[in-house]
Amino acid sequence: MDHPGNLFVVSAPSGAGKSSLVKALMELDSHVQPSVSHTTRAPRGQEKHGREYFFISEPEFDAMVAADGFVEWANVHGRRYGTSRRAIEERIAQGADVVLEIDWQGALQIRKSFADAVLVFILPPSWEELRSRLERRGEDSADVIELRLANARQEMAQVGKFDFVIINEVFERALFDLKTIVHAQRLKVSAQRRARADTFASLDIPAS
Ligand code: 5GP
Repeated sequence: MDHPGNLFVVSAPSGAGKSSLVKALMELDSHVQPSVSHTTRAPRGQEKHGREYFFISEPEFDAMVAADGFVEWANVHGRRYGTSRRAIEERIAQGADVVLEIDWQGALQIRKSFADAVLVFILPPSWEELRSRLERRGEDSADVIELRLANARQEMAQVGKFDFVIINEVFERALFDLKTIVHAQRLKVSAQRRARADTFASLDIPAS
């Protein structure tokens, strides 16, 4: 399927810095928009319904699954999370670049529906650094940190199925890498043909 906008999917184990990187990317580039997922987990801290997530009940989630409302969904750390089909299709049809921050299972599902999706994996620079980021974050108990680290081992084993990998050692460098991936995607011939149709036409370039 050919869409005017691009779809980026960013996955990482918790503590790798995925959310901060995606947030910084969106602050720099207003053309990149987030997709707000649905989840059955409860809001944390200052989270607001419709901003970080749509917080819904288990039966509501079941109903959306039954109505084929999700382009992908997965169980992550014992809760369900899903990307609504409508939210991304409408936006990329309007020409926006949409970024999904979802787990690796979801990322691989997305590729089945959107063959052109660009899959990016964020790695921490070391186990020591991953552990210390989770500890510094102060959000989780020692048990939960151990669970997240055990999950991280399995998650990171999936990296070979992604298109790009960023090692988040120095934040600014990792942000530069992410911007570069987005930029390179926009320079693809197919993307330029759509974005600069008038230039292609004035140069008498035939449709492929
Ligand atoms: P958290 O509860 O910490 O916000 O997110 C937990 C995990 O769920 C993160 O890895 C996050 O990327 C993932 N996640 C968030 N939304 C979705 C979604 O719509 N689909 C999938 N598959 N994973 C998601």
